Amino acid sequence: MKNFGLNIWGDNNFILKDDTININHANRPSLLEITKEIREKGYKGPLLLRFPHLIEKQISTLFNTFEKAKKEFNYQGNFQAVFPLKVNQFPNFIHSLMDVSKNYNYGLEAGSKAELIIAITKTPLGAPITVNGFKDKEMISLCFIAAKMGHNITVTIEGLGELETIIQVNHEFNKNVETPVSPKIGVRIRLHSSGIGIWAKSGGYSSKFGLTSTELLEAYELLKKHELLDHLWMIHFHIGSQMGDIAPLKKALREAGNIYAELKKRGADALGAINIGGGLAVEYSQHSNNQDRNYSLKEFANDVIYLMQEIAKSKGVVEPDIFTESGRYIAASHSVLIAPVLELFSQEYHEKGLRLKEINPPLIQELYDLFNSLTREHAREYLHDALDHMESLLTLFDLGYIDLEDRSNTEILVNLIIKKAIALLKNEGTDELKKLQDRIQEKYLVNFSAFQSLPDFWGLAQQFPIMPLDRLDTKPTNPASIWDITCDSDGEIGFNRDLPLYLHDIDVSKEEYFLGFFLTGAYQEVLGMKHNLFTHPTECVISFDEDGSYTIDHLIEAQNLMDVLDDLDYDTNLIDKALKYQIEESTHISKEEKRELLGKLYLYLSENSYLKTIQAQNENI
Ligand SMILES: *Cc1c(COP(=O)(O)O)cnc(C)c1O
Repeated sequence: MKNFGLNIWGDNNFILKDDTININHANRPSLLEITKEIREKGYKGPLLLRFPHLIEKQISTLFNTFEKAKKEFNYQGNFQAVFPLKVNQFPNFIHSLMDVSKNYNYGLEAGSKAELIIAITKTPLGAPITVNGFKDKEMISLCFIAAKMGHNITVTIEGLGELETIIQVNHEFNKNVETPVSPKIGVRIRLHSSGIGIWAKSGGYSSKFGLTSTELLEAYELLKKHELLDHLWMIHFHIGSQMGDIAPLKKALREAGNIYAELKKRGADALGAINIGGGLAVEYSQHSNNQDRNYSLKEFANDVIYLMQEIAKSKGVVEPDIFTESGRYIAASHSVLIAPVLELFSQEYHEKGLRLKEINPPLIQELYDLFNSLTREHAREYLHDALDHMESLLTLFDLGYIDLEDRSNTEILVNLIIKKAIALLKNEGTDELKKLQDRIQEKYLVNFSAFQSLPDFWGLAQQFPIMPLDRLDTKPTNPASIWDITCDSDGEIGFNRDLPLYLHDIDVSKEEYFLGFFLTGAYQEVLGMKHNLFTHPTECVISFDEDGSYTIDHLIEAQNLMDVLDDLDYDTNLIDKALKYQIEESTHISKEEKRELLGKLYLYLSENSYLKTIQAQNENI
């Protein structure tokens, strides 16, 4: 896996050039040179790089693919899209998103009041805003205010109670005005079909959201009675995120399409759009035997257009506009988390760690000879001998016949023999060899928090592509597991024999080694938790000039220690005072030393929680 599955998950966004991974755009800089440039400015610890050109690529691909499908089928409805804010609300992302999507009349989807405020202020007038999720009277009122501002806003009814509130708010906002203005109304339907996979709960009869057929008929009557039927214009469903299989979507489309047609025939004349929600999957896999989705965007778009057309034709209604709220697909690829490796944990298993004596116990001498004379031809046999000797030597230690140094030599030699044998026999890939890899796996301690930066790994075992930023001309040989710096054993991406990750054998006291975590742009940031008080990493936006060179903008440093505590509602003035007081009152330090300690303390308080240095000889983590 020398290219770390780049051909599977990379989508041509990156290329290997010499020994580095580079951005496949403009002047094609390497991720390593960008990382080094930022670190030279003094920013250490993990870095989150955002690439607006990758957001633009996803948006244009989405629109172009649907436009193509429309053309192919001569479809009459429009294609429109909004970005669901819950996928990533960070300003550096949203500002880039709105900036690169100007030509597409692209809008935002909000699921809470705070998100709605973002949508109202960041969506250009005319571009669509959709509002989903549970709403109270205030939230519905905010939608009316947005409509009065001139926004193209659709409020989705998730239940009959909400509709009653809309009717009430409409009355309050419009009863005494000359030109009544209300938002467009959508209804979320409760599908009979449901999604699959770990995010499937959003669809199906037991889902949290949506109206049943009975409720739908009731809603229709209510809208009619209160003269709001001319605002009902959208049918909405969402079958769950990261839809790996296309089949449930097709079922849902048929269901929604027929509901659209039925309502239209009943008299819902303003009805003109089907919003298919999100769910478009991202390929996260680094291994060809474990891919995440079984369809392409082209197939997805063709299915949507074809099925809607078919239903519209057979029921004799106009072809509806198609809305999507794909979020993961738009955002995932835009960011890369880069984190330095701090330490390798089993480096003690090195030949230089051996403490051989002038006269060693015979079995140890034999292990040493096996190690030195290991060849491909004898590898399997010697390996079995070594494992056998190890059992005997450990028993000898338990019985008191050999000492601690002998035991250490045993561990090192057996580890070295396994490593060498695996390297010699790697083409055979037998179960035995795979199992042995678990024993010689290397633990890489990495300066990041999995809880903060990859929460879906922790919560849902979601895999993210991981690879080093350089040395890519060399085959990595260490079966690797990755440890984050939290004090929680869940912060480990363990070595998985079936989906193995290999990394390079490096000496971090002498050289830097960075890992990139890819496709982290969807959901991870806002779901990230401050476990152990590690906060959102230092982030910046990398954009490209006309001459092809890159610029680093909008750098936001990870929060400093005092701000972290302030966020938890500690009174930082009191903390500050307590620190000063404790130094001041200490009886065994001189005045001068006190001043020095205070200086150091304030320097540390101004920095973030991530590790700066771990080994005295390596100042550069
Ligand atoms: C979460 C959500 C989306 C986005 O789903 P993705 O799988 O990220 O595309 C779209 N619409 C609604 C209603 C959602 O709740």
